[in-house]
Amino acid sequence: MLWAGIQWFGAKAGVASVNQCHVGAFLNSSPETVHPDIQFHFFPVFFDKDWIPVPTTYGYRIGVGPMRPTSRGNVRLRSNKATDPLRIDPNYMATDEDWRVMREAMSLGLEAARQPAFKPYHYREDTPGIHIREGKAMDEFIREDAASAYHPCGTCKIGTQEDAMAVVDSQLRVRGVQNLRVIDASVMPSLPSANINAATIMLAEKACDLLLDKPALTEQAPAYFSRPAYTGQLSDQPAVNGEAPNV
Ligand SMILES: Cc1cc2nc3c(=O)[nH]c(=O)nc-3n(C[C@H](O)[C@H](O)[C@H](O)COP(=O)(O)OP(=O)(O)OC[C@H]3O[C@@H](n4cnc5c(N)ncnc54)[C@H](O)[C@@H]3O)c2cc1C
Repeated sequence: MLWAGIQWFGAKAGVASVNQCHVGAFLNSSPETVHPDIQFHFFPVFFDKDWIPVPTTYGYRIGVGPMRPTSRGNVRLRSNKATDPLRIDPNYMATDEDWRVMREAMSLGLEAARQPAFKPYHYREDTPGIHIREGKAMDEFIREDAASAYHPCGTCKIGTQEDAMAVVDSQLRVRGVQNLRVIDASVMPSLPSANINAATIMLAEKACDLLLDKPALTEQAPAYFSRPAYTGQLSDQPAVNGEAPNV
């Protein structure tokens, strides 16, 4: 710990110079999935049950999960008292599709951990445990171990007049209420395929422009990288703007 502090304050280097969760991956759960729908977080930290880090033990963990869950939760009023806490039901893993993606995510995570590059770091598999690979045991593990990645959004989505589920209009004004706007992750109409802090900040900056009556920024088409569909052949070259990579 002391050495990490010295390295950081002396040279802005060492283990304290990274956020410990800077390695990840976005994967497709099936060849039919044209958009990555699984996210991996790699943690160079040993976690005990309930995702509690154990600083005295060496280890790593890959967190996997669906990015485009089809289950929908809800937020409801508990009573007519504004001071009462809300009833929040995330309703995780309520659809077969989410189970399919989660099982595939677990299988891909285990496959990644089986790669030779990890071998020198393997002593014992604590989670899920070598006897848990698929079927009922895996489902049981998912039920026990799955936790939120803390990216709730979309509880009062932006949308057009025609959209009965839209709570705010394109200017983020609450429909049917005067002088009230919502500017946070809750207006997202669908889930971004990533951690949502950057998207929330972008949304807030856009809202500031709206409030200040600033014109929209000129449209740009920055390059984006994606692999349209897994064809069974991998390439080191990522696809650009949805074009298939040269394999
Ligand atoms: C543990 C954790 C880890 C996360 N890690 C990441 C990450 O690594 N990367 C990433 O991209 N995202 C991450 N997120 C998600 C990200 O932080 C949130 O999605 C983002 O902050 C949402 O922004 P927001 O403005 O919608 O809400 P918030 O940031 O929650 O802002 C809501 C604000 O409203 C205030 N507030 C609440 N009630 C009232 C009230 N009655 N009156 C006045 N003020 C009120 C709160 O105090 C708060 O300041 C994480 C979230 C959590 C909880």
